[in-house]
Parts: sequence; structure tokens; C-alpha cells
Amino acid sequence: MFALMQSSRVQSLHMMVEPRTGLKAVIAIHSSQKGPAMGGCRYLSYPNEESAIEDAIQLARNMSYKAVLAGLSLGGGTAVIMRPAHVPDRAALFEAFGRFVQTLDGRYVTAMDSGTSREDMDCIAQYTQHVTSTTAVGDPSAHTALGLYAGIRTTAMARLGSDNLEGLRVAIQGLGHVGYALAEQLHAAGAELLVADLDSGKVQLAMEQLGAKPIASEALLSTPCDILAPCGLGGVLNSHSVTKLRCAAVAGGANNQLSCAAIADQLEARGILYAPDYVINSGGLIYVALHHQGQSPGTITAHLSQIGTRLTEVFAHAQAEKRSPARVADELAERLLDMD
Ligand code: NAD
Repeated sequence: MFALMQSSRVQSLHMMVEPRTGLKAVIAIHSSQKGPAMGGCRYLSYPNEESAIEDAIQLARNMSYKAVLAGLSLGGGTAVIMRPAHVPDRAALFEAFGRFVQTLDGRYVTAMDSGTSREDMDCIAQYTQHVTSTTAVGDPSAHTALGLYAGIRTTAMARLGSDNLEGLRVAIQGLGHVGYALAEQLHAAGAELLVADLDSGKVQLAMEQLGAKPIASEALLSTPCDILAPCGLGGVLNSHSVTKLRCAAVAGGANNQLSCAAIADQLEARGILYAPDYVINSGGLIYVALHHQGQSPGTITAHLSQIGTRLTEVFAHAQAEKRSPARVADELAERLLDMD
């Protein structure tokens, strides 16, 4: 684990176990020199403790890169709570997690992520003020989807020469908080939707409400389309799946879509434009961070609108240097982090 911390440049790992509530949680702090480390709290089933800790470490780095490229005065961190097979009292478990966050005295600020809800954040807020995306703050997913939609238009312009989404074939993997909100916006813009989710109810809803075409989850990545938008969990682009892709570009909301950095080069070699995940999905972080700092809605909207501009800059550098946008964005983020 120390080797992974070192290679990911994660500063510290904090763990808590509370048998009474079933809490088994880890908080990874990647950086805190620009401000408190902010990042989501995942509540998922993991095959073992190592994979939960690895997820926290990799996501914490992703959050640092996201924050620094979004120009926020924040560091990056992530919490993972291992979902038990049976939870006697969900509220008590999240209250215990709130006490854990409080022990870090503001070095980490938590927020909603996969598997957690605003109501869970309310439970956490009973024990610490270092939490956002509570019911009073609102769901960041809508803002993530807004930024993602703008980023997809930017990606379409860079790869296909037009940001008109009418008739564009977009394949969305995962119709959760982010994926469904994105699908609604794409549908309104006239895009043709191909969708997959492990939850057949969400697929059915997208068929009925948005005229989406259902595709089996395992077949979605190899379905011909203009833009593939991974909006489920990370690691979907690996050495196996990347050879099967039949899209012009990948632009989705999921964190850590690339199973390793080399996948970015394979995408580049195949002529598939990749929108770095932590650039295109930064809308939710921008919203919760600026809201937490007490900024006005106007300031937040102005900041959100910069996502497309930032992505255009990354694409332009990548094209000039004939490198993957993911490599360019990683280097830029690391340079900005090292400047302190
Ligand atoms: P969510 O849990 O609401 O939705 C995820 C959806 O993906 C679920 O419906 C799930 O059934 C589906 N899914 C998972 N694996 C799948 C697979 N292999 N095939 C098809 N469907 C699959 O989560 P969310 O909040 O929408 O977040 C989605 C992703 O975006 C996550 O990676 C998250 O870390 C990232 N993200 C979310 C936000 C946010 O504001 N919520 C911000 C930035 C990044």
C-alpha cells in the first residue's frame, strides 16, 4: 500500500472501524497545500479491503487534479465506506462516519458520490461542518451533468468539426444521477441515445421518456457511435475494451475511466479523442466547493462555464504536441500542484 501511496503521491491515509455501526471507512488525502482536501464519499461493496483502499487512493489523486485544473483553492481527497452485507441502521453508520471526518479537523471535506445520498450527508452534518451536498446544498450531479454536456459539445467540435448535437449518436453507460441528467439534455438537443444500465428500470425509463435505444451493458462499448459517455464506475477503458471501441470520441462523467495511463496512448493511436474525465466531470466539484465557500450563484455559473474552455485548451495542446489529451492534462495538473 505504501508503494501505491508513493506512486499516486497520496499524502496520508486514515482509517476507522466501528463494530457497533458496521463502519469500515478509509479517507485518502492526496494534497492539501492549496486548501482543504475535498472529495466524495463512496458507499459501495468491494471484494476486499485492499480494493477499497486502492479506490480511495486513486480517486483522491483524481480529485486533486480536478480541483487544480478547475482553479479551485482546494486539495483532493476521497472517502470510501465499505458497504456491509447487512446494515442495521444506515443513519447511525453515516453519523459514525461524520465523527470520523471531524477527527481530521477540516483537512478533509466530504460530499456525495456513488452510493451516497443527500440524506446521508445530512447524517454526517450532525457531527461535522466539513461536509457539503447536504439536502440544503443540493445534488451536485445536476451540475456535473451540465459541465459534461458542455464538454461533449466541445469534444464534438474538436473531433467532428461541429458542436451541433442533432442526430449525433451518443452511447451512455450508466443512467444514474449523472448519466440520466446528461441523457435528458442530449435528448433535448436532438441526439440519438444508446443506453445501458445494470438497473433495467432506469433503461426502461430512458426508453419511455427519451426515446433511448437499449443496449446490453457488455455490448455498449463496442456499439458504433459518435461519442461514448462512460457514466458508471471507473476502469471501463482497459487493454481489452479499448480494442473493441467503435466511437470517434470518449467523453463521460465516470471518474478514473482509464484502467492505467497507457490506455490513453492506445486511444490516441486509434484516433479516438479522449476528454480527460477529471476535466469534463468537474461541474459537481465546482458547485459544491464554491457553495461551501459562500460564493454567489452567478460566480458559480461563470466558473462552470469555463469547463468547455479548459477542455478546448487541453485538446489544442494535445493536438499541437501529437499526444493524448489525458497525458497533457496530467502533466498540467502535476505542474500546477508542484508550483507550491
Ligand atoms: P450513480 O451511482 O447514481 O449511477 C451510476 C449508474 O451506473 C448506476 O445506475 C449503475 O447501475 C450504473 N452502472 C454501473 N456499472 C455499470 C455497467 N458496467 N454498465 C452499465 N451501467 C452501470 O452514480 P453517479 O453519481 O451518477 O456517478 C457516476 C460516475 O460519475 C461515478 O464514477 C462517479 O464517481 C462519477 N462522478 C459523479 C459526480 C456526481 O456529481 N455525482 C461527479 C463527478 C464524477
